[in-house]
Amino acid sequence: PVVTRFAPSPTGYLHIGGARTALFNWLYARGRGGKFLLRIEDTDRARSTPEATAAILTGLQWLGLDWDGDAVSQFDCAPRHAEVAQAMLASGHAYKCFATQEEIEAFREAARADGRSTLYHSPWRDADPATHPDAAFVIRLKAPRDGETVIEDAVQGRVTIRNDQLDDMVCLRSDGTPTYMLAVVVDDHDMGVTHIIRGDDHLNNAARQIQVYQAMGWDVPVFAHIPLIHGPDGKKLSKRHGALGVEEYQRLGYPAAAVRNYLSRLGWGHGDDEFFTDAQAQQWFDLPGIGRAPSRLDLKKLDHLTAQHMSAADDAALLHELQAYLVATDRPALSDAQKSRLLAAMPLVKDKMKNFDQLIEKARFVLIDRPVQPDEKAQASLTDVSRGILRELTPHLQTANWSRDDLETVVGGFAASRELGLGKLAQPLRAALAGRTNAPSVFDMMILLGREETLARLGDAAS
Ligand code: GLU
Repeated sequence: PVVTRFAPSPTGYLHIGGARTALFNWLYARGRGGKFLLRIEDTDRARSTPEATAAILTGLQWLGLDWDGDAVSQFDCAPRHAEVAQAMLASGHAYKCFATQEEIEAFREAARADGRSTLYHSPWRDADPATHPDAAFVIRLKAPRDGETVIEDAVQGRVTIRNDQLDDMVCLRSDGTPTYMLAVVVDDHDMGVTHIIRGDDHLNNAARQIQVYQAMGWDVPVFAHIPLIHGPDGKKLSKRHGALGVEEYQRLGYPAAAVRNYLSRLGWGHGDDEFFTDAQAQQWFDLPGIGRAPSRLDLKKLDHLTAQHMSAADDAALLHELQAYLVATDRPALSDAQKSRLLAAMPLVKDKMKNFDQLIEKARFVLIDRPVQPDEKAQASLTDVSRGILRELTPHLQTANWSRDDLETVVGGFAASRELGLGKLAQPLRAALAGRTNAPSVFDMMILLGREETLARLGDAAS
């Protein structure tokens, strides 16, 4: 069975690159009936914060990337990491190194001065334990000196690193705490991780990590190192590109399904398909489809996908997400009356909206209460003449039977009898009903508002 994981370091919000990494792991596992696990890499006590952990969990939840079981704290596994270091020591795959920081620094300085490699080779690697001093030590991996370590990467292909270019990495520090590099391997092994999909900034670490797997005689998981995401200008993503944190996408009013769709297309593709559902993404997602070139952030594409997702979304689900959006952006919640009116209006207003604000604006006519406050443009269309026309139209509406067909006949007939284009009539009608000149069709609005509310709004505007 496939087991993937997302292993963020809790040093800040969930950034867009991390979210994409999490998504790829989630898609890979979910599409194969596997498990998607979450591990918080909080071994670095100075840089890890509970706030960052909370932000990462919230970000994943918003994005809809559910993980299996509880999130694992790497720090909590420290005793197990130490145990593995001791096991490697006992099996001769690791050794105690008593070299002090000063000695190592002195070695490096001398090597630099001589133009030699600064790779540290500890004299303790082959020392007789009988000669060990009673002093502080670290546990180092006894890494192979000859040959090479090969990463069979599912994205990068075969990557070969000469072993004489890797030093004996420290696994356990002199205070007994594990290094990050050891912790990752032990945790991935213990969690049963079969596939590691992560940023290619970790490619070099993979070689050292493979050496630990080999020392312990453990199966090496499949590695897939994915290229970074770049800004629209092709440069490394940075603050000036904006929208770096996943929560910003929520605040910009994008629905999570659209963001998932969009992120899945950053660095991975399935033919020319742009728009797809979660089920399709899970079914299609694979490692060979991941490209080797950095992908580029492009919010225009996200707008475009959002419009498609909004149109295709389930009305109740969309309403639910819109409510969460209002909360997330510190706006008042909808009343029950507004909710039911919006739900009824949803099929009419959700089409082609690029974010929740656009949808709210389009649905404004069902959310507002009388008296409608027209904006400047709407006000301008409510001239004395057009208000007079609205007054004359009113009795015709009072007797209409309020089906769409009937309304079209009544309003159309009235316009014709006054030798007015329907457009000319529709403008003040929109202004009266929605307070905007840009609103859904007047017939749609009338049906949704009902006779009583429609006539009341016309009365307000015409008086
Ligand atoms: N904690 C690492 C990071 O946030 C990820 C390590 C890994 O995926 O192996 O970059």
